[in-house]
Amino acid sequence: MTTTAAFAPDAGPSDATRRVALRLDDVRKTYGTEDNRVTALDGVSLALPAGTFTAVMGPSGSGKSTLLQCAAGLDRPDAGTVHVDGEQLTHGGEAALTKFRRERIGFVFQQFNLLPTLTVLENTVLPLRLAGKRVDRAAAVAVLTRIGLGERLGHLPAQLSGGQQQRVAIARALVTRPKVVFADEPTGALDTRSARDVLGLLQEAVTTHGRTLVMVTHDPVAAAYADSVLFLADGRIVGRLPQPTAEAVAARMTHLTDRAAL
Ligand code: ADP
Repeated sequence: MTTTAAFAPDAGPSDATRRVALRLDDVRKTYGTEDNRVTALDGVSLALPAGTFTAVMGPSGSGKSTLLQCAAGLDRPDAGTVHVDGEQLTHGGEAALTKFRRERIGFVFQQFNLLPTLTVLENTVLPLRLAGKRVDRAAAVAVLTRIGLGERLGHLPAQLSGGQQQRVAIARALVTRPKVVFADEPTGALDTRSARDVLGLLQEAVTTHGRTLVMVTHDPVAAAYADSVLFLADGRIVGRLPQPTAEAVAARMTHLTDRAAL
């Protein structure tokens, strides 16, 4: 298995040829107080080139959610730095961090997190409204039409299936043209067919629109849609699998879970 060093940011000439969209340097995060301190992230460094799709896997408690939260600016690391598209995540106040997130980051959650009283179209353009940006209604309608929701612009989330709600959530995450999109178990609440649709859409955001995508998942089939998989254990990156197949991912996960149980 490859070691953490293989994921250290590359300061060489390749940076010049392919922009790094997300970079973490020695990120650490602990929870709790002295007596019951838990190290959730134990020095994570990585550099993800723009236009790539990375899956993050690892046993329960390995630090996946904490990694996503810190990388997306939803939580602050105790030490280390996070850069999104070359800009360091701010150490400023909450308002500055919120602005940073709104301008550079998109988020897709397991439970969709659509606002129940807003329509499909209103949910989709909400990030633009919150950021005080001009809402290009025609562009939003075009996107929703392309993902098969053109007939449902005025529907409320409760009138949609889970798969449809997640597609709206993806449209919402992409509407601000973020540099990096984070997805936390985006197919965890979906049936197999809807999951496939959602993964196809996420993949298209990368291949067609050049977005950079980081997805936490438990599912080897979902991970196989990514360009590469990072494996976490005990708050560290312990492996990377390029061009993953579901079988290879499952085998690596079995190995990690067995190790964690020792
Ligand atoms: P994963 O997403 O891989 O299951 P997490 O990032 O949720 O892992 O958790 C990593 C470790 O940090 C676990 O031991 C977990 O119990 C702990 N942890 C996560 N969040 C908190 C919190 N808010 N308070 C205390 N401990 C936490």
